[in-house]
Amino acid sequence: MNSSDIQAALAAAHAKYASCTAGANASYIPELAKVPSTLFGIAAVTTAGETISVGDAETPFAIESISKAFNLALVMDQIGAPALREKVGADPTGEPFNSVLAIVAHGGRPLNPLVNAGAMATVSLVAGENSNAIWANIMQRLAAFAGHPLKINDDVYASESATNSHNKGIAWLLDSAGYFYNQPDMIVDLYTRMCSLNVTTKDLAVMGASYANGGVNPITGERTVQRENIAEILAELTMSGLYDSTGDWLYRTGLPAKSGVGGGIVVVVPNKMAIAAFSPPLDKYGNSVRAENALIDIIETLGLNPLKS
Ligand code: GLN
Repeated sequence: MNSSDIQAALAAAHAKYASCTAGANASYIPELAKVPSTLFGIAAVTTAGETISVGDAETPFAIESISKAFNLALVMDQIGAPALREKVGADPTGEPFNSVLAIVAHGGRPLNPLVNAGAMATVSLVAGENSNAIWANIMQRLAAFAGHPLKINDDVYASESATNSHNKGIAWLLDSAGYFYNQPDMIVDLYTRMCSLNVTTKDLAVMGASYANGGVNPITGERTVQRENIAEILAELTMSGLYDSTGDWLYRTGLPAKSGVGGGIVVVVPNKMAIAAFSPPLDKYGNSVRAENALIDIIETLGLNPLKS
């Protein structure tokens, strides 16, 4: 497979799904409802550091839950995969990403670091003496993945801060069960800020490419995660990256991925590349309809499903 094969697959998927009108922007975070629904970008970054893109691949949008996949590297490197599994978990919930039922049904355990509960518990494990120090650690790690510092989308941050009482409730619930590791209100604020960071589709592909490339950003050459933690991180993405529709996704692609309610999805193809897609309208699970369909087509066209012989 060469770069013109990848370019052709990206262009074909973009052309096929650009006219798809299914889904709707997230509206529980009011600011996300205002993003133009027609935006649609796709980008791939190979382990050789090649970038291939089509459509609105340089338009910034809120990273949202995709940030969970990269903050996870920071905490895995800090405490190790066995401790992460014990303190947060490594099992799918089978419930929506902000489910309280899933927590209550499992004795207060968040179950995995990719649902809101587990992601906030993971942020509560980030080292740092105070909010500023923790935030600096998160920003530094995410910047290493992206290859440049990421900026907060102030409007999304304000909008999400004004409407995140459900997440605050989840954090306090975990705290009451002994599965939160720092002050809940401070951590929910840091989590909300992290979700409000702007990325482009190209940024997401660069970020995912470290996981395909043994933990080294193929554009900058910087190590972003310890190699020994990648398999466990990708196992979490494989189990829970697209919330309660991860099984359907895996059935069709065989690959670890992570979505966010801003409309982005990034998929990791170990030892080959990462591919990202972005378009705001979401399905009922919270996954971008155009992005998911386009990625499924691209994976099929390029023969990237590792479960197929
Ligand atoms: N910040 C969002 C939330 O906490 C992230 C959710 C998502 O992208 N699924 O609700």
